[in-house]
This record gives sequence, C-alpha cells and structure tokens, in this order.
Amino acid sequence: MAKKGWDEFEIGAMLRTFDGKIDNIAATQQEDRAYSQSSSYTASVADWRLIKPVFNKDYCIDCQFCWIYCPDVSIISRDKKLIGVDMDHCKGCGICVEVCPTNPKSLLMFSEQADEESVIANWPKKDEEEA
Ligand code: SF4
Ligand code: SF4
Repeated sequence: MAKKGWDEFEIGAMLRTFDGKIDNIAATQQEDRAYSQSSSYTASVADWRLIKPVFNKDYCIDCQFCWIYCPDVSIISRDKKLIGVDMDHCKGCGICVEVCPTNPKSLLMFSEQADEESVIANWPKKDEEEA
C-alpha cells in the first residue's frame, strides 16, 4: 500500500494501533502486542527533537513523577524503578525535568548532540539554599 502524507488522508481515515485480532489487550504485555506499522508505538519520532532529557540515576529517588507526567509515555519504569527514556518516542518537551523533585535534578535537558557520559560526569552539584 502506497504511503500517504498527513494532508492526503480522507476525512474519517483511521490508523489501526494493532495488527490482527485483539483479545484482552490490557492483559497483554507491551512486548507481546502486535503493533501495526502505522501506530505511534512503531514509528520513531526521534528526529523531531532538538533537545533531549538525560537521566542520572545517582540522584533518582524513583518517585515516578516523570513517568506520570510524560505526555508521550516515554519514561521507562519497571517495578517502580526508573530505567531511562525511550528515545524513539520522546519529543524533548522537558516536562519530566520540570517535575523531577530532586536536588540536583535526576533528569536534565541537553542538546541532541550532547554526549551522555560527559554530561553525567559534569552534572550540576546540589543547589544549596541561601542562609
Ligand atoms: S522530554 Fe517530554 S517527551 Fe521526553 S521523556 Fe521528558 S516528558 Fe517525556
Ligand atoms: S521525577 Fe526524577 S526522581 Fe522522580 S523518578 Fe523521575 S527522574 Fe527519578
């Protein structure tokens, strides 16, 4: 099937999230779901991003605020432990950084080209309150 541009769809066109029959999708683990090629899960949007969040696990308290607030479900958490960011779907909005409560923050925004190892090595220090 030929691909259409976003402005070529008929009114009422529908993109299916999953291929084939769907049985009890809520009980099916994400990795076992048959996502269709036209779903937002399968399509990478990484090239939209100009800045990216970098996660520093040394300061994270696993509060899950970033996971709750991310509008793109791009924070990866397993068993209430934050693992990192799904960079295929993160759009670089910075909301996760805004809601992170630690001092210094456990997530910070950097340019898309920034080297993760070196930004973590130069992470800001604790912001002491003025006396
Ligand atoms: S920058 Fe935005 S899209 Fe990316 S992980 Fe943070 S909240 Fe989600
Ligand atoms: S908001 Fe910050 S401290 Fe809380 S889980 Fe996310 S990165 Fe960790």
